[in-house]
Amino acid sequence: YAKQSYDDHAYYGDEIQEERIQELFLEKELRIAIERKDLHVHYQPKINSRYNSLAGLEALVRWRHAEKGMVPPGVFIPIAERNGLIVPLERIVFEEVCQDIASLLNKGQLIKRVSVNISQIHLYQEDFSQFIISCLKKYNIHPTAIELEITESVIMMDDLNVIQRLEHLKEMGVEISMDDFGTGYSSLSYINKLPIDRIKIDKSFIDQIEIDEQYQTIIKTIVSMARHLRLEVIAEGVETEKQMLFLKSVNCFHIQGYFYYAPMTFEKVRELLYSEELL
Ligand code: C2E
Ligand code: CA
Ligand code: CA
Ligand code: CA
Repeated sequence: YAKQSYDDHAYYGDEIQEERIQELFLEKELRIAIERKDLHVHYQPKINSRYNSLAGLEALVRWRHAEKGMVPPGVFIPIAERNGLIVPLERIVFEEVCQDIASLLNKGQLIKRVSVNISQIHLYQEDFSQFIISCLKKYNIHPTAIELEITESVIMMDDLNVIQRLEHLKEMGVEISMDDFGTGYSSLSYINKLPIDRIKIDKSFIDQIEIDEQYQTIIKTIVSMARHLRLEVIAEGVETEKQMLFLKSVNCFHIQGYFYYAPMTFEKVRELLYSEELL
């Protein structure tokens, strides 16, 4: 028994060691990518299923490493959060989003609200709202073109500075969404403390719609509670028609997911806006 547990331990140790080496490597490479602004933004359309119209776009960061190829954000975002790289990373993303919006405005193309993911670490920066406002000014973009997707935590609920920063931006016209709703610490009772416009029902709930009927009840309840709190609702990670139709049946019309569109390059967004595929 002792030997086996020792072996297990050694094996586990190796794995941790390898993970550390991998993280150090990616951290070093990510630092270089950030210095060179060698990051990109893809956009995923959000659809209003009632009219088949475009409701908005979510900006998602992309990093292509010369040898490793595409590194998923699920891998490098946590590394960036642990190593002080998330703030410069998100500022590069935000600036690219502003450039893209500005280029659409210049061409007279109708632009819907674009949402960007903001890490809590970024929200804690004293100059967070100043950065957002000055970047919008630089590209001559109205705050109503922007939405921030944030995730909540218990600490944040009590941080008056963070709440004030968000309220300030909201007063200017920026909208705020609670991302990954239903996971982590999120709950409808906390939500009244933050200036939230919308909740995004997490993909993990949507995945269960066709598997576990109880989730249909949960989703229905979330939508109706949100309505009573005057919050908008969007479902993320919708992959099938059945999921979309169920959501429609409970009055959740805003849909994001592969069922409609996967994230795409800005060029593809431009084509989509030109085409008559969407209203
Ligand atoms: P998220 O904010 O929940 O974004 C949705 C993720 O689900 C995206 O993954 C998107 O590509 C994926 N997705 C959308 N529809 C579907 C679907 O129908 N099926 C499946 N299987 N997946 C779908 P992505 O782009 O890999 O991003 C993963 C996460 O990385 C995001 O989750 C977000 O938390 C984070 N992230 C991305 N960009 C940023 C950023 O600029 N800042 C921060 N802090 N986080 C970011
Ligand atoms: Ca998001
Ligand atoms: Ca998220
Ligand atoms: Ca999510």
